[in-house]
Amino acid sequence: MTSASPSSNPSSNGRAKNDFDVAVIGAGIVGAALFRELSRYQIKVVLLERENDVALGASRANSAIVHCGCDPKAGTAMARFNTAGNRMFPELCRQLDVPFVQNGSLICAFSDEELPVIRALYDNGRANGVEQLEILDAASARALEPNLTSAVRGALLAATGGIVGPYELTTALAENGVVNGGVLLLNFDTAAISRAENGPFTVAAADRRTITARFVVNAAGINADKVHNLIARPTFEIRPRRGEYYVFDKSQGALFDRTIFVCPGKLGKGILVSPTVHGNLIAGPNAQDGIARDDTAVTAAGLAEVRAGAGRITEAISWRDSIRNFAGLRAVSTRDDFIIEEAPDQKGFFDLAGIKSPGLTSAPAIALAARDLLADAGLDLVEKKDFNPNRHETHFLSLPPEQRRALAARDSAYGRIVCRCESITEGEIIESIRRPVGATTLDGVKRRCRPGSGRCQGGFCSVRVLEILARELGKDQREILQDKAGSSIILGSRGPVQGGD
Ligand SMILES: Cc1cc2nc3c(=O)[nH]c(=O)nc-3n(C[C@H](O)[C@H](O)[C@H](O)COP(=O)(O)OP(=O)(O)OC[C@H]3O[C@@H](n4cnc5c(N)ncnc54)[C@H](O)[C@@H]3O)c2cc1C
Repeated sequence: MTSASPSSNPSSNGRAKNDFDVAVIGAGIVGAALFRELSRYQIKVVLLERENDVALGASRANSAIVHCGCDPKAGTAMARFNTAGNRMFPELCRQLDVPFVQNGSLICAFSDEELPVIRALYDNGRANGVEQLEILDAASARALEPNLTSAVRGALLAATGGIVGPYELTTALAENGVVNGGVLLLNFDTAAISRAENGPFTVAAADRRTITARFVVNAAGINADKVHNLIARPTFEIRPRRGEYYVFDKSQGALFDRTIFVCPGKLGKGILVSPTVHGNLIAGPNAQDGIARDDTAVTAAGLAEVRAGAGRITEAISWRDSIRNFAGLRAVSTRDDFIIEEAPDQKGFFDLAGIKSPGLTSAPAIALAARDLLADAGLDLVEKKDFNPNRHETHFLSLPPEQRRALAARDSAYGRIVCRCESITEGEIIESIRRPVGATTLDGVKRRCRPGSGRCQGGFCSVRVLEILARELGKDQREILQDKAGSSIILGSRGPVQGGD
């Protein structure tokens, strides 16, 4: 294997296939945003992900809020990246054809004691550079959001708050990076990192595949401390904090226009109620410490907590219309702020760690900061002339009727609805499988184009999606997984049915 000189920036010509300028570990929103950013330049970049798809960590299980930036304490990295990231969302989501709505947020006081908190958040937000903030009295808050309880005493309105499709954005970033020349290696569970003195890094997966890179960026989310400790002296620890959610049917989606927060507490921003970009309603998360790194279970106690928390905000939710529960793990670090730095004892190894909320919002800005750190460390960034920042995918239902007719006439797969709840066509499902970072599992298809996200939760369409996946991938249906490795759907055949007419 050849190695790159640390002081030069060679082109890809004449280099071994698995020799890179930069290796990014972890294909969550942070790693994918950096990967896409680096694909803009004439360098070789690889994104290493241990799972069988991108966006399978915190980036798929969160509140999906693009925070305005009022909450993180002024002067922290979280504050800086939140405000900067928030400003990047409208253009980024437009370029990548990802659902994003700047619906605004309302942080509410539900007692007179909480009113000073609203004022403090206003001041903190202004210090963080957040624009379009307004303090409202109770009547004005309820005029905007009539489904707030009568206990509301006042609120902070933040017009720049938004909602986004978090896994759609992560997938789109990774896809755009691949289209622009980056390499994505899935099922690459980073197990060892080594280097000859000041030479390139060798990154090895548990299955013994290796790549080399001049620079390594650790964006491994909940495992960022473990990945850091593979090559550097420990400088932080990650302590997972779980948050559980309810997702409601679209019948509840119009209860609120804005995202409704309570005043923040010791463990974070508290339980919120928000519309989603797809027209559902979401309530959560609670905050539980002392959780194992793989424990994304939802619990009766946790859900009761969410219900009680959301009940402070509104009495209007029909809880019978809950269609899904899920939980995500926040990567809370012992340093209580984002860690965006070069490891003190390993030049060329960078951590993007402890990226808890508002990490989704901050990711695009963190990617720019990481790019600048790499440039300062000697990575020569010359822009490609042919970098394409845009991507597009078909959203059949949102097309005007004449375009739908034309598309279905051109390709009959767009004329067959597979998911009746969300009106998703076979054409969109095929597209989600054939795209550059295509789906290979049932949940992978669901994250990309939503069959199974509706009221029946895949009760009707799962079998059809399974058939389409097997056909498109040239696999036996028994090989198709629901989600991560090991989540088989069809375990075997019972053989011919005996008896009966
Ligand atoms: C309950 C909850 C609610 C949240 N709500 C919001 C919100 O509304 N707004 C907001 O801005 N932020 C929110 N966040 C925070 C946000 O979701 C995270 O900050 C963000 O998703 C972190 O992205 P990441 O890429 O760092 O981590 P992840 O998405 O976890 O990605 C890390 C990736 O690294 C991979 N990996 C791990 N170990 C290895 C290894 N050894 N080798 C290779 N790959 C590896 C993982 O499989 C994973 O894909 C919330 C988080 C949670 C949990």
